[in-house]
Amino acid sequence: DTETGTAGDESNALRTPIVAVLGHVDHGKTTLLDKIRGSTVTEGEAGAITQHIGATAVPLETISEMAGSLVNPDDFDLPGLLYIDTPGHHSFSTLRSRGGALADIAVLVIDVNDGFQPQTLEAVDILKRTQTPFIVAANKVDTVPGWNPNEGEPIQQSIEQQSDRVEGDLNDRLYKIIGQLSDEGFSADMYWRVQNFQKNIGVVPVSAMTAEGVPDLLTVLMGLSQRYMKEEMAIDVQGPGAGTVLEVKDTQGFGTTVDAVLYDGTIRADDEIIVGGLNAPITTEVRALLQPRPLAEIRTEKQFEKVDEVSAAAGVKIAAPDLDDAMAGAPIRVVRNRNKDEVVAEVEKELAEIEVRTEEQGVIVKADTLGSLEAIASTLDESEIPIVRAEVGDVAPRDIRVAETAAEDKHKAILAFSVDILDDAEKLAKQEGVRIFEHDVIYRLIEEYEEHVEAIEQSQQEQVLENITRPARFQILKDHTFRQSDPAVVGVEVRSGTVKRNTNAAKFEDGEFKRVGNLKSIQDEGEDVDELRAGERAAVSIDGPTVGRQIEEGDELWVHLPEKHAKILEQELTEDIPADEREALSMYLEKQRNRDPFWGK
Ligand code: GDP
Repeated sequence: DTETGTAGDESNALRTPIVAVLGHVDHGKTTLLDKIRGSTVTEGEAGAITQHIGATAVPLETISEMAGSLVNPDDFDLPGLLYIDTPGHHSFSTLRSRGGALADIAVLVIDVNDGFQPQTLEAVDILKRTQTPFIVAANKVDTVPGWNPNEGEPIQQSIEQQSDRVEGDLNDRLYKIIGQLSDEGFSADMYWRVQNFQKNIGVVPVSAMTAEGVPDLLTVLMGLSQRYMKEEMAIDVQGPGAGTVLEVKDTQGFGTTVDAVLYDGTIRADDEIIVGGLNAPITTEVRALLQPRPLAEIRTEKQFEKVDEVSAAAGVKIAAPDLDDAMAGAPIRVVRNRNKDEVVAEVEKELAEIEVRTEEQGVIVKADTLGSLEAIASTLDESEIPIVRAEVGDVAPRDIRVAETAAEDKHKAILAFSVDILDDAEKLAKQEGVRIFEHDVIYRLIEEYEEHVEAIEQSQQEQVLENITRPARFQILKDHTFRQSDPAVVGVEVRSGTVKRNTNAAKFEDGEFKRVGNLKSIQDEGEDVDELRAGERAAVSIDGPTVGRQIEEGDELWVHLPEKHAKILEQELTEDIPADEREALSMYLEKQRNRDPFWGK
């Protein structure tokens, strides 16, 4: 068995800073990480990269070889950088350490052609919230028209070899990004002009395709960590380990295991550990610590090799009994020589900090990790969408059971983020009218839910309109009496509004509306119709009056509006009815209010 752990010198008490890559989809996060891995692999034998579980360690020697004159290794005593392999702010917010982000530093990737996009903003918000220092990789500089590529060169060197027009073009794009950063409250500049990286954001123009600027990126990250994070990196390497669960998964031959990133101390193959679980912290004993085999030994069938111990910062797969309820994003602590109850309390306290505020009524949120749960909850809070229950885990039938009891239709909903929906839950949801929304981009998930709520509200309003008497004013036409009474059948023309059948007709006389009868049917050229719009003519039958007595040819009639309906129409639905109906309504209200100023208020 071999020992693995910090890249570089094992005796060094400064740990490797942890780096995360964030940015909008397709802006080049994965390509950039691949390039960092790829180019460092090809940089010869001296301190090649080490593949960890979920992360890649790039030692200082490799960085200085790549960066050439940009780096003097004597300036540094940090051992290198540990890159989290899964890019994106989802994994970023998943990866927490005590009270903050697990990543010590971040790279925000922005496509120079696209600038800020929705997920760029989301990433910036998360970086702000977690107060994580970051630099900007202004990616895809090679796509500026006319660009002359210089594989792997430092960016200023490459820019010098571009035409004035290309350089000008690039600068336009870079300054646009700098402006957008400023809109978000960050003062940013090209990295070579930044004096104080704590106050200003350095922008590094790069191409993940040609690796131009990648040496600069590694150098700036290294320099930034060395300058501002050295103290945080000083750890007791031999102390009991602390880490975060990245993922809970089955590993052949080991049952349920957790992939974790260790950010403090050491974990050994015989340690007792406490892991944050769905219901309570899990106390268990390590059975095996696993790391990927070095590339050279890939001929063996087994993907992983057992190691005796791992020191921060590092990624490691931990095999132990009872890990089924472990949660991604939850803390892991090594007990070793400490009071176990205190360690359990520490884990409980950390879990409690991630608690999400819930209400009596609201939607259900299911997410794959504690971090994502927290991120969704905070976004929902901003959108004023209440949560009734928030949990890590797949969507199960019991979630549907809770959702179906919601008082309002819009709360019969489950927002599922990067989790599975169990088959019987899906069936039950259909049966009970519970809607499940799935997306692995937070803002899209919430957008889809909001669209759904809007649709519900619209249809509810339509239903209200359906059941409400609509205002209308119509006139009995001259020489169009088809029948005198029982019922009276007369030709009418609608002046404004909508006349529907089965409504009461009224006549305005002596300062008040008098009901004259029920408008039973409407016939247009022999065909029964449900309604008549402004300007249309038809024959209507009215139960009650006799032509020549209660009503006359030439009379103006109204649809009789119940006071309650008039009030809803005026106060809630004015925007939803056509202008001519609005006109009929206001005339109607005016007549009523001449008599009683508070009518319909
Ligand atoms: P992610 O979604 O942010 O991880 O983006 P990817 O790394 O998958 O990149 C998205 C697309 O952009 C892919 O087709 C990449 O090949 C391309 N791409 C990424 N970086 C560069 C770059 O620097 N230059 C060019 N020309 N294309 C790039």
